[in-house]
Amino acid sequence: MARPVVAIVGRPNVGKSTIFNRIIGDRLAIVEDKPGVTRDRLYGSGEWNGRAFSIVDTGGIEIDGEDEIMKSVRMQAELAVEEADVIVFMVDAKAGLTHADDEVAHMLFRSRKPVVVAVNKVDNQGRSDEIYEFYSLGFGDPIGISGAHGTGIGDLLDAVVEKLPVIEDDEYDEDVIRVALIGRPNVGKSSLVNAILGEERVIVSDVAGTTRDAIDTPFEHDGQKYVLIDTAGMRKRGKVYETTEKYSVMRAMKAIERADVVLILINGEEGIIEQDKHIAGYAHEAGRASVFVVNKWDVVEKDDKTMQHFEQNIRDHFLFMTYAPIVFLSAKTKQRLHKLLPVVNRVSEQHSMRIQTHLLNDVVADAIAINPPPTDKGKRLRINYVTQVAVKPPTIVIFANDPELMHFSYQRYLENKIRAAFEFEGTPVRLVTRRKS
Ligand code: GDP
Ligand code: GDP
Repeated sequence: MARPVVAIVGRPNVGKSTIFNRIIGDRLAIVEDKPGVTRDRLYGSGEWNGRAFSIVDTGGIEIDGEDEIMKSVRMQAELAVEEADVIVFMVDAKAGLTHADDEVAHMLFRSRKPVVVAVNKVDNQGRSDEIYEFYSLGFGDPIGISGAHGTGIGDLLDAVVEKLPVIEDDEYDEDVIRVALIGRPNVGKSSLVNAILGEERVIVSDVAGTTRDAIDTPFEHDGQKYVLIDTAGMRKRGKVYETTEKYSVMRAMKAIERADVVLILINGEEGIIEQDKHIAGYAHEAGRASVFVVNKWDVVEKDDKTMQHFEQNIRDHFLFMTYAPIVFLSAKTKQRLHKLLPVVNRVSEQHSMRIQTHLLNDVVADAIAINPPPTDKGKRLRINYVTQVAVKPPTIVIFANDPELMHFSYQRYLENKIRAAFEFEGTPVRLVTRRKS
């Protein structure tokens, strides 16, 4: 269920972002690419040979000071070692093996994480001898690729997929709601965890013996069982790079993968930042239920319009997630805290809701009657039948004469009609068109 994370690591200018863009751009089926999802992507979700995974370009971490390149490369490597399941270590055939490469190799080697060495800028396939010196890094066969020409990328993905671990499903029961709290540093994640737990009996505080470094916290409220995901990660502190965006986004990705419901914390005092969008976009693409939690509401100067304005602001920034409810609260004063868990229960229920086929077909038939699919070059989409094939998130297959004729705007129209009938509050709904005449 949870997708493994692949991280690309390497010195500046070896071609990490070029390869990242090629991989998410044309080599992989991007799960969902709706307008409104942030453009400056830190991650991509994809599939290769039937294996789904996320991929992150760890490049671009900027820090000041002397020896900054080495420092930033070291940080990327640490980040990848902590959070990734497979590491693509990228080096540059034109520059050859450098001291920095050796140092990174050393760090990666100690971590024992699976590593694939990608030798970029092998622009001339005839010059494949350029890769030989990189055998000395000690990670097996280096793969020659060219970001410029797009060659070798299939081989690289083959090697990556071969090393992807199978991530075991959590040992929690079906009726336990797994909740992840995510948001930028200092938004109030640990405070909110403490506020929630302060009122509840904590069943156990550690899940011992698991291979993951995360520690989850189970608790019960009004007869409903919950697990707060990766509460240990929230407590881990003190490292300089913790505040860098890529670090927290990657950590958040891992937590989101393991959650049913994602609480996206926003700082009520400071408003929405780009990082909030990256995290929300990831939760959406991962198919998780989401709730926006505007924290620090106690310090916001309010009049009777403040909440409404903040709500509109959220809707404007997260166009792709109008389904997610918004809760305003204060983890510090516990003001409005009692509103949170009922909303979590509600979206969790909607996330696993199953709609009977005949009801779904009635709604879609009505939608088509009101607004038939437009024609495209003289051909018209004919929808024969719809059925829900999965939950978490609800996934609906539309059988039609020709999936190519399903346009984004018409699909959005159908989704709106389906939501108008069945709501699906807090959850993405996936519509997939398949051929069947
Ligand atoms: P990053 O800093 O590691 O993310 O590197 P970039 O992706 O920004 O690439 C750095 C430079 O190398 C850019 O000028 C790219 O156009 C160039 N580059 C990337 N891939 C290749 C390649 O396969 N061959 C050559 N010759 N240049 C490349
Ligand atoms: P985290 O980094 O997201 O886990 O954030 P923390 O829970 O450590 O909170 C960061 C700071 O914000 C701390 O000083 C908290 O006391 C403060 N804080 C957290 N929640 C609230 C809140 O609802 N209101 C106010 N005024 N301060 C808060």
